[in-house]
This record gives sequence, C-alpha cells and structure tokens, in this order.
Amino acid sequence: MDPKATREYASVLDSSDPLRQYRDRFHMPKRQNGEDVIYLTGNSLGLQPKTTRGYIEQELDDWKNLGVEGHFHAKNPWMPYHEFLTERMAHIVGAKPFETVVMNSLTVNLHLLMVSFYRPDETRNKIIIEKDAFPSDQYAVKSQIAFHMGLRPKTSGLGTEDWLIELVPRDGETCLRTEDIIATIEEHADSVALIMLGGVNYYTGQLFDMKAITEAGHKVGAVVGFDLAHAAGNVKLKLHEWDVDFACWCSYKYLNSGPGGVAGVFVHERHAEAEDLLRFAGWWGHDKETRFLMGPDFVPMKGAEGWQLSNPPIFQMAALRASLEIFEEAGMEALVEKSKKMARFMDFLLGRIDDERISIITPPDPSERGCQLSIRVKDADKSLFEAITKKGVIADWREPDVIRVAPVPLYNSFEDCWNFTQILRRELGG
Ligand SMILES: *Cc1c(COP(=O)(O)O)cnc(C)c1O
Repeated sequence: MDPKATREYASVLDSSDPLRQYRDRFHMPKRQNGEDVIYLTGNSLGLQPKTTRGYIEQELDDWKNLGVEGHFHAKNPWMPYHEFLTERMAHIVGAKPFETVVMNSLTVNLHLLMVSFYRPDETRNKIIIEKDAFPSDQYAVKSQIAFHMGLRPKTSGLGTEDWLIELVPRDGETCLRTEDIIATIEEHADSVALIMLGGVNYYTGQLFDMKAITEAGHKVGAVVGFDLAHAAGNVKLKLHEWDVDFACWCSYKYLNSGPGGVAGVFVHERHAEAEDLLRFAGWWGHDKETRFLMGPDFVPMKGAEGWQLSNPPIFQMAALRASLEIFEEAGMEALVEKSKKMARFMDFLLGRIDDERISIITPPDPSERGCQLSIRVKDADKSLFEAITKKGVIADWREPDVIRVAPVPLYNSFEDCWNFTQILRRELGG
C-alpha cells in the first residue's frame, strides 16, 4: 500500500494547507442526509461566498432608502460601482486596470470585441478556433463571419467555412499540440485575421500556451484574443505581459459571482489608448466627464471602459465584489499553488484505480492544465456518472463520454479528492 494513497495522507495535506480556512467562507450545498456534497463543479458554477448576501443587501437597502439618489449617495455609489471591481479583476488576469472592465455577459462581450478586432478584408479574413471550442464561441465566431459576408442565418452554415480554420487534435489524441497550433498559424500567415481560442479548453481542461500563440499570431500580422471562461480565477494569467490583444471571460465559474454573473473584458493598452477603433457604442462608454451633458456625439473613454454600453447591474456586481475580495485576500499565487497540488493528488489517486473503463484526457503536465481533470468513460457509459451522483458527488457529464471534475483551491480539500476517487472506485466495482 502506497502511504500516499490513504485518507490519512489526504488529511495531512489538508492540515498543512495554508488556505484551508477559506472553505468555511463558502456555503457548501448539502445532501438530503445533511452531509456536505463533494462539490467538484466550481468550473461550471462557483459556490456562494457567505459574504455575498450582505453585499447584495447593502444595495437593496440603499435602493430602498435612497431611490435614485443611490447613484451618488449609496454607501458604495452606483455611478462608479464598476470601478470598485476593476483593480481586483485586473490582478486576477494579469492586466493593468486601464485594460480591464467588468460588464455584460461573456458571449455579448465576445461579440463586442470581435466588432473591434475582427476586421476581415479581401485577403486577410480567416479566424482560427478550436474545432471543439465551447458552442457559444463557435456560434459567435461563425455568425461574425456570416455578418461580414452578408449571409443570413439560414445559409450561414454554407459559406462561413471559407473563412474558418478549425484546430483538430492529431489522430488518436484529444488535446492540441502547441507546435501544431503554431504550424497552422504559419500555414495561413497571409490570410488569418484573428486567432480566437479558449485559454483553457472547457472539455479537455487543456491550458494553452497563450504567450507562444500570441507571439506566433503577431508574427504573421494577426490579432489574438482569448476566451478565458475556464482560465480566469483558475490559472496564472499575464495578459498584459503576453501582449494578448483582447480577452473576455465570465465570472460565475471559478470567480463565484453567481448564476449569470457579470463578465470581464481585457483590451490591451495599445488598443485601449486608441480612440479610433471601430466599436459599437453606448452611453456608458462615453467620456465620464461629459456623459451627463447628454450630447449627441459619442466620445469614447480611454481604456477598456470605452467598450461599455449600459449602466451596470449593481446586484450582480455586488455579488462579484464579495468574491473578488476573497480572491484578493487569498492571492492568485497561493491559489494556483494549491490548485496544482490538488490536481496532482487527484490525478495520482485516479491513476491508482486499475480499471480500463476510465482514462484521463487532460494533459498530465501541470503547465498544461488548471485544476480540472476530464475523465473519459469507455463506451460512454453514463450509468457510472449517475451512480456517483447518487453517492453525493456533484461533477458533470459532458457528451459524449466525459466526466469533468474540478477541485478548486478556495473551497475544496484533499479529502474531497480522496472521497471522490474512493466513490468512483467502488462504483467501478474495484
Ligand atoms: C461558460 C462558457 C460560455 C458561456 O457563455 P455565456 O455568455 O456566459 O452564457 C462561453 N464560452 C466558454 C468558453 C465558456 O466556458
């Protein structure tokens, strides 16, 4: 018996974990029998911080007591409310506050950014994406191409392929190799306008080498953007330093802002400075000093804020604020360190389940993944997933044959990893 493959060892890891007290800052859902579930879907919907309610209640009270005056006289005035989030969000993604704004939801932001950063012409018009990108990204990208081609939705499936380059893993592999991504970029050097990838693939959990991809894209004259839905709050990001052109992400996954939470946007300084970039405009992107003069001509604010459209959803922002405060306190460095340790431990325990029905498709190299591990189930036998769900595991099943589990450093423990793998082992009959 390997002494590391024991419950005792898991609890030793927990007791020496400097972040262990953070679990108590979140509401852990319960099973019917009153026990905590084994929550492994922080990659899908993060848990509720115990402080969230108070943050939202503050705004409800201010609205109740102040009405419209809350814009200026609320404890946290609504007028500049989104600014309270900027700096913390910027830290999480490795950006300057000037380059960061919190607004809208993810797919909306992806479209708004493509309006500015996907400018196809006769020769340079292609978009490179992952064939297995999240469907919303696929639809957004394809509909942008169709929009520029002037194709109506009915026929958009017919012509957009010409401008779409999909990255596919090699035969027999499930993840993409950086060298192949770069080779594809070079192959289409003269025709690629935009490279738009997920920073961490939602299905495989693969973390891409965003620095190398950005460099390769820029070398051929393309714009490079990332969807960081599965990367923000999960892995170390250095968007500014990597010279990424733009990025967007949601906040309800690793960032725990609650269902449909307000999303984040990054626009690199060199673009955010420019006032002449094409964009769709709204009054909240208009110069702050003169916004309320209500003039007819749009004057964009400098910085990522210049992409805002509407006055912000305060309750959603209040919820996000509660969570970002915890991130700031715990620190991304410490979170990532624990995350790597937990993923390694989970990987190790899964590796000891000697059953050919399951395999891990997420890259084993810690530099190529975040906390998520994707477990492929042979013959797409969903009954295994249903059985572990009955035992109190909240994981998720992704068609056709994958169980995704994400032990997140803020509220999961090494013992969660132990408990999950033992339930899985038992349900496999081991
Ligand atoms: C979760 C996720 C989405 C969801 O988009 P919404 O606009 O927030 O509904 C889109 N893209 C990726 C890559 C995701 O992981």
